[in-house]
Amino acid sequence: MRYIEPHAHMVSRITDDYRDMLASGCAAVCEPAFWAGFDRSSPQGFYDYFCQLTDYEPKRAWKFGLPHFCWLCINPKEAEDVKLAEEVVALIPQFLGRANVLGIGEIGLNKNSRNELRVLELHLDLAARHNQMILVHTPHLEDKLKGTKLILEVVKADKRINPERVIIDHVEGHTVKLVLDAGFWAGMTLYPETKCMAARAVDILECYGAERLWLNSACDWGQSVPLAVPYAALEMRRRGHGPEFVDRVIYGNPLRFLSQSPRFKLSDG
Ligand SMILES: [Zn+2]
Repeated sequence: MRYIEPHAHMVSRITDDYRDMLASGCAAVCEPAFWAGFDRSSPQGFYDYFCQLTDYEPKRAWKFGLPHFCWLCINPKEAEDVKLAEEVVALIPQFLGRANVLGIGEIGLNKNSRNELRVLELHLDLAARHNQMILVHTPHLEDKLKGTKLILEVVKADKRINPERVIIDHVEGHTVKLVLDAGFWAGMTLYPETKCMAARAVDILECYGAERLWLNSACDWGQSVPLAVPYAALEMRRRGHGPEFVDRVIYGNPLRFLSQSPRFKLSDG
């Protein structure tokens, strides 16, 4: 089995997780910028985090020969303070030239507030000005449908942005069709106990096909499973899907989307 982990918050995981991922067939890991489990007190805290994502973390992964990539932003959970967000967004361009940076993410909405929307627009403008790909976080369950609709409206309104270079992540059964019909890619996050567990993710693949969908673990400092993607592959096999289908979902699709960035290179070429 081979797979790409397109969404994992490795700064909060231990080095053994890199080893286990590689032993399970992981060919690359991608890390969107996110909340640290606490609110950072200043733009300097984000500066240090961006150094960690673009310097220290790729070195730690590479000890096992695993390529590590990242996405940069101030995440929606800390985007209520617009002045702080403006200062953090202003820090990002100096990092965009670093070797493992794929784009802007995970941006989006958390509580669907007016300030979060303003900061989402700031990020979309940053991505458009620098021709960056975009990874979008959608809110948790009770706010997900409304938040997803708002996000799609705002992204579609910016005509500089090509939907094929945008992935809307954490889709569920009631939001995936909206995202795909609008021409975007959709990411399914495999949660350990609730929401989109492996069986439900496979249901979604069976209903909507595997054209522009990927799977991720979104593992972070909370309860999460770094090997959720290969475990979901076992569920696909159990339900009778052949190796070509499984390979397409967990390897071919993320490879196709991520290869739109010239930075995204696997170590086997
Ligand atoms: Zn995430």
